[in-house]
Amino acid sequence: SGPLLKVENLTKHYPLGTGFLKKSVPVIRAVEEVSFSVEAGETLCIVGESGCGKSTVARLLMRLVEPTGGRVLLDGTDIAGLKKEALHAWRRRIQMVFQDPYSSLNPRLTAGRIITEPVENFERLSRKQRQALAADLLRKVGMSPEMMHRLPSDLSGGQRQRLGIARALSLNPSLIIADEAVSALDVSVQAQILNLLRDLQQQMGIAFVFISHDLGVVEHFAHRVAVMYLGRIVELAPCEALFTKPVHPYTEALIGAAPVPDPRRVRLEAPVEGEVPSPINPPSGCAFHPRCPLALERCRIEVPPLVPMPDGRVVACHVRAPATDIPGRPVLAGD
Ligand code: SF4
Ligand code: MG
Repeated sequence: SGPLLKVENLTKHYPLGTGFLKKSVPVIRAVEEVSFSVEAGETLCIVGESGCGKSTVARLLMRLVEPTGGRVLLDGTDIAGLKKEALHAWRRRIQMVFQDPYSSLNPRLTAGRIITEPVENFERLSRKQRQALAADLLRKVGMSPEMMHRLPSDLSGGQRQRLGIARALSLNPSLIIADEAVSALDVSVQAQILNLLRDLQQQMGIAFVFISHDLGVVEHFAHRVAVMYLGRIVELAPCEALFTKPVHPYTEALIGAAPVPDPRRVRLEAPVEGEVPSPINPPSGCAFHPRCPLALERCRIEVPPLVPMPDGRVVACHVRAPATDIPGRPVLAGD
């Protein structure tokens, strides 16, 4: 059997305005030919500075926006061809946990109503059934069943994010997409939520696509990590390999050349010299070239392809992972 989720050449361009002259409407190149897969029960983290396209990838996976190109397959099935009932079944299997627990929960609904709502979109529940389901879900996320009567405003940030997770769990998903799901929380609460997610993964076999700008969060949570820069994946590697031996110059810069005693202090906010260029008019060739200490003339002209390395990672860099003309036969640095 293949991977749970397979993403092939996913691309999203947003037109900027309508443009009264049809020919030259500028576009935001939010996501460019992104490909990856996620195994059942696996955690893939997507990291990058803000504006690199991470959240657009999340929205594309949820089909909250339509892709400009490429495909998203769940268990080998492309959602694009699905009719009503199959589409509903597909939607049940992918759920999302949002960044901001303060704004993603309806303030007028009780906790119990909030977490059972996704199920009630599919089937009618009696009051008794709803309360039993709410109690079960609250226990799963480490909360007392009596919390079902509270309003979001009566809960702490960590409790609200637990509710967001309980709601995502209510339909027994195979995959949860979490976009900056712990970024708004204190570090100690972050650790509790990450532990909860890990426990749920072990108990229920849920896969995660976990999106974060924070390398400190990712290092102890991911199985594999995809690093994005200006809409493209530049390196995708097993987590430990990425942190101990980054290959792409951007990954290297994010992690820092020297060992970092406290990984939580590594911030992606401004780790690399210079600003992230605009996705409206990204640099030619390798988009990282204006900030890259290793850039060659070639980097200004040619987009580097993702090249597989012997340890299972893929890297897009003319210098660190040069491709040959023969597809699938990379010449590796040092050969
Ligand atoms: Fe730097 Fe060139 Fe590699 Fe891009 S392709 S990361 S500019 S060396
Ligand atoms: Mg974002």
